[in-house]
Parts: sequence; structure tokens; C-alpha cells
Amino acid sequence: MAFLDQNPALGFPLVAGLGLLVGSFLNVVILRLPRRMEWEWKRDSREVLGEPELYDPPPPGIVVERSHCPHCGHQLSWYENIPVFSWLALRGRCRACKAPISAQYPLVELLTCLLLVVCVWQFGFGWQGFGACLLTCFLIALSGIDLRTQLLPDSMTLPLLWLGLIAAVEDLYIAPKAALLGAIAGYVSLWSVWWVFKQVTGKEGMGHGDFKLLAALGAWCGLQGILPTILLSSVVGAIVGSIWLASQGRDRATPIPFGPYLAVAGWIVFVWGDRIMATYLQWAGL
Ligand SMILES: [Zn+2]
Repeated sequence: MAFLDQNPALGFPLVAGLGLLVGSFLNVVILRLPRRMEWEWKRDSREVLGEPELYDPPPPGIVVERSHCPHCGHQLSWYENIPVFSWLALRGRCRACKAPISAQYPLVELLTCLLLVVCVWQFGFGWQGFGACLLTCFLIALSGIDLRTQLLPDSMTLPLLWLGLIAAVEDLYIAPKAALLGAIAGYVSLWSVWWVFKQVTGKEGMGHGDFKLLAALGAWCGLQGILPTILLSSVVGAIVGSIWLASQGRDRATPIPFGPYLAVAGWIVFVWGDRIMATYLQWAGL
């Protein structure tokens, strides 16, 4: 780690390359985890309802099975599976059946690459940088899943919360007390908004996954990061959401995933929160 810190010319390209590979793995998680969850829900419901067992083969596992084209089943060889480059070389089409391949693949790979480089640039090549990369990967996968399916799986939000608390035990970014209070404040603040909204309108304005995600972000950013995260995500959410609704021409009852906005805001607050607060206080003359 110290070696990479002294040789950033080697460290940054290494992290960028790893970022592309990790991004390619995150694509698989984004696509396969919700399908896996849905399969388990159906199986569990059949069990609870006492319905007969069906033969329902499980969807592909996340780690083990190789990627193939969703249209024709063509199994990808190693040179069709190189992050970003393969997609560009194949011009976004399957080599066998010419069906278009989603731009999600290269975009997630590039985004992961870019954000992991920012993480080590801001936090160095030690444990702080590693933790920041881990948080970033969770947030990218959660955002992708929420955008596609409007779900934020417990199997990701809860481990992210624990990891934040564990990092705080070692005082990696913040003290344990700040992390614990941040997690509680994160959960309770959105839960209260949800509860009031439900009492007033009788509608569910938000999913429970959002509370858990903000709790996890609270464990990483601390109590002082909660308010900036909520404010930033609301502003970004209002702007992007209005543009999106206007372009789609739908009414405002259309559910919009809130998770990606929380993730973006939480990530910015985690990486630059101290500096943003310092600038703001200076600007406000405090
Ligand atoms: Zn194909």
C-alpha cells in the first residue's frame, strides 16, 4: 500500500483497471440479484400458502455462471467480455444474433472505474481508500438495482450499514458514536417523513429500503452528514425527477426510485462533506 502511495503513476492505472473489472461484476449483480430475490419470494410464498412444489429452476447465480446474450443464449468468450472495449468493438451488438446490448454495461464499468479512482485520489491507497471503494461499489449496485426494479435489497443495505459501523469502531473516518447516531438519525428521519406522508395522504411515498440506505449512509458519513445528504438528494431528486416526468409525460403519481439520489448525495457528502461544510460556513460568515 505504501509502495502505491509513493508510486501513483502505477497505483492509479491499477485502480482504474480494477475499477473496470469490478464494474463488470457490478453489472452482473444489478441484473441477477433481483431475479434471484424474486425467485426466492415465489418459492417462500408457495411454502407459506401450502401450494405444491413447482419445478422452477433457480436463475443464474451471481458469481459462478458465465455471461451469455439474453436474446440468443450465445455464451460470451473472454474477448467479448472485456469491460467497455468489447462493447465498443462489437458496436453494442451481440456477435451471434446482432441484438443490441444495453449501454448499461459500459456505463456502469466506466462509472465504477472513475469513482474508484476518485476514492483513492481522495483517501489514498490504504484502508481508508479501500473502504471508500467498497462503499462506492455498494452504492453503484444499489442505484442500478433501484433504477431497474425499484428495490433496495436488504442483502446489500444491511451489510453496508454493518461495514460502516465496523469502520467506525476502528475510527477509520469518524468516531463510533457519530456513526451510530448517524445510522439511527438516517433511519428515523426518512421513516418519520414516510409516516407523516402516509397519515396525511394515505399513500406510501417511499420504500423501506430508502430508510435502510440512509441509515447505512449515516453509519459512513456520521450524524453531521445526514442533513446535507437529505438536502442534496432532495434538490437533485426534484430537478432530475421533474425533467424525467416531463419527458415521459406521466402524472406525478408515477413512483420514482429515491435510492439513486440518496446514493449520489451520500457519496458526495462522504467524499467532500467536510470541505463543503467548511466552504458553506465560510460563505455564510459563521
Ligand atoms: Zn445474441
